[in-house]
Amino acid sequence: MTFSADEDFARQLGAEDPLRHFREKFHLPLGADGGPLIYFAGNSLGLMPKAARTVVERELDVWAKRAVDAHHAADTPWYSYHETLREPTARLVGAQPNEVICMNSLTVNLHLMMATFYRPTKSRFKVLMEEPAFPSDTYAIKSQIVHHGFDPKDALVLAGPRKGELTIRQEDIESALEKYGQQIAIVMIGGINFFTGQLFDIERITSLSQKRGCVVGFDLAHAIGNVPLALHHWNVDFAAWCSYKYLNAGPGAVAGAFVHERHATNQKLPRFAGWFGNDPNTRFRLHLEPEFIPVPSADGWQISNPPIFSMAPLRASLAIFDEAGGMEPLRAKSIKLTGYLQFLLESNHGDKRFTVITPGEMDARGCQLSILVHEHPKELFRKLQAAGVKCDFREPNVVRVAPTPLYNTFREVWRFAKIVAEHH
Ligand SMILES: *Cc1c(COP(=O)(O)O)cnc(C)c1O
Repeated sequence: MTFSADEDFARQLGAEDPLRHFREKFHLPLGADGGPLIYFAGNSLGLMPKAARTVVERELDVWAKRAVDAHHAADTPWYSYHETLREPTARLVGAQPNEVICMNSLTVNLHLMMATFYRPTKSRFKVLMEEPAFPSDTYAIKSQIVHHGFDPKDALVLAGPRKGELTIRQEDIESALEKYGQQIAIVMIGGINFFTGQLFDIERITSLSQKRGCVVGFDLAHAIGNVPLALHHWNVDFAAWCSYKYLNAGPGAVAGAFVHERHATNQKLPRFAGWFGNDPNTRFRLHLEPEFIPVPSADGWQISNPPIFSMAPLRASLAIFDEAGGMEPLRAKSIKLTGYLQFLLESNHGDKRFTVITPGEMDARGCQLSILVHEHPKELFRKLQAAGVKCDFREPNVVRVAPTPLYNTFREVWRFAKIVAEHH
């Protein structure tokens, strides 16, 4: 794809964009001038789908009118509300419907997955992670290690960037696997790194880890709704994600988990149990059935009854993904949008005031670019804010921007690059 830096070209890309009308399905926050902000923070909190209000209000209404009867007698009974999310979620992560469950929040799901899949022994107790991982993941994993009576100093193996580099080489993950593989119980990596935007080769990491006898799981917080995934086909053991970033399901929205069919159907796997993970045929026999019989699917990891009001917006948001035709057309636009952004930044900055630390290759990134600003980074960030750009600043000098294909435009990318170009 060849790009051009003039503004007409941005307009032309916009006019040719088959997904351009999806922007109208979202509420765009307004800036001081009354116009919509350039919202490049979808990697942090996605925009609100207009339909979210309707679906939440519908459930409030049902609560008011039917109360306890709504568990079974509503149009979408609360009792099985989570089932409405199953198929659209499975499509997004490339799973079979029996391999996914929407529940809890992300870090909680990581713990639930670790409860099943991190079963350390004296000889195999290590955990391989990427560095830097999102802090919540590091806290979760370290506490799991301690919970099992091991010391993170011995048990945690980190694959990080080499000195002077900012992203992680695939070969360095592989050499960590080679060196410690026999002692690694579990490999837990973020599918896309939150800081650099680097997308890892999930399929290859999975097969190499499993060859060494390790269980392998991914945190897909920055990958779901951003890049196509094929978790079943890649044979990933488990995964977890949140729904408020690229999935646009609202603050603290119900998260999700994937358990590969070969584990999901194994009722003998240890886990933390609760009534909603139990076989629905005996669930309501309550005190009559003290034995837990897990559902032979990812539902067997569900613990509590579904939180309807934080699930409803997710329904609205997943419907938008389906309407857009799924991840393939979204990814096609995303590659263009982010490629265009990179082109503009690089054509502007032959003077090396900036370094895009996100990998340049399409198959090693999603929509996010992390821009390391060498001169006056905070001033640039303030300028961006004043000009109506919503993006994110990581101390000491990295600006993260995530143009998303559902609601961002090529003109916004052009305008953003112009502000950056004028920075001194
Ligand atoms: C956003 C994010 C989280 C947030 O965790 P919550 O449990 O949803 O608060 C955790 N891990 C990663 C990698 C993230 O990107």
